[in-house]
Amino acid sequence: MTFQLQPLPYSNDALEPHIDAKTMEIHHDKHHAAYTNNLNNAIAGTEWENKTIEEILADVSKISPAVRNNAGGFYNHNLFWEVMAPNAGGKPTGDLMDAIDSELGGWDKFKETFSAAATTRFGSGWAWLMVGADKKLVVNSTPNQDNALMDVAEVKGTPILGIDVWEHAYYLNYQNRRPDYIGAFYNVINWNVVSEKFKAATK
Ligand code: MN
Repeated sequence: MTFQLQPLPYSNDALEPHIDAKTMEIHHDKHHAAYTNNLNNAIAGTEWENKTIEEILADVSKISPAVRNNAGGFYNHNLFWEVMAPNAGGKPTGDLMDAIDSELGGWDKFKETFSAAATTRFGSGWAWLMVGADKKLVVNSTPNQDNALMDVAEVKGTPILGIDVWEHAYYLNYQNRRPDYIGAFYNVINWNVVSEKFKAATK
């Protein structure tokens, strides 16, 4: 299979002022494109060529560091674009909010924990809200382009929300102020999509 870079589901400037158009353009058209191309090159002519991205991630330790980085980068950015939207933000409702209340100590505590995970991830990586193997919500972070679907993950599960904390995700607008970028991210979270992912992962 050749993996395809899908266009952003909104215009480059749709998330302004929280995430600027130039950052979105470079992030998608250059960084995400590179992960996609590098993944395709790394699996070309191998037995992994006909696998799904989930199958590749689940066996990534058997493949190569290049596939770990680029399959992760391909998957993680697809999720990232999907869980953001213009005119979004606010709080989730329904079953997801109930689970945040009962499993993560409520909305304020969730925000505090998620922001801390994103702020304290040293260097490059991602912070996540995910559904663990026991179907409970987990907040954590991973280095580089790793995620919870990988066999190498310390905590396995299904990511339902992720924030990219690589400098390329915020440096043009926020420079070294990663906490300001993290604070702004809450204004663009598409909780409808996150809730759908929660529903699918907890079935
Ligand atoms: Mn990125």
